[in-house]
Amino acid sequence: MSDQKSYSGRCFCGAVGIVATGEPATMGYCHCASCRHWSAGPVNAFTLWQPHTVRVTKGGEHVENYQKSDTSVRKFCELCGGHLYTDHPTWGLTDVSAVLLPDLDYVPALHINYQESVLPIRDGLPKYRDMPVEMGGSGDLLPE
Ligand SMILES: [Zn+2]
Ligand SMILES: [Zn+2]
Repeated sequence: MSDQKSYSGRCFCGAVGIVATGEPATMGYCHCASCRHWSAGPVNAFTLWQPHTVRVTKGGEHVENYQKSDTSVRKFCELCGGHLYTDHPTWGLTDVSAVLLPDLDYVPALHINYQESVLPIRDGLPKYRDMPVEMGGSGDLLPE
């Protein structure tokens, strides 16, 4: 277990600490309206992990949940409102925004929900209209 890398992160104020251990299942960009609305940014750079590899290391009493749909349980710090991670119980994955894990080498593999994009990114990576088939989507690709 000690030979696995771990990546530390914290909320905006620092009261809550998290750690992700091992390597993410996948990394990419989501352009969906929910990600944009929640992140207040034009695109969400996600890193998806097996849920048991993401832990709260301190300040757990300040972690709040917000669940709008069955697919996402959003975790944030009650003190600063800073985001921590989002559980996706139906996929069995946990999304940690790339910005929260500064030591992780962020290497995106794909773009998802590109049909909703407000910020086209011409980086040569696959652009899924919604999501890959294995994530429950159509698997359709769009041009950049
Ligand atoms: Zn905080
Ligand atoms: Zn999204």
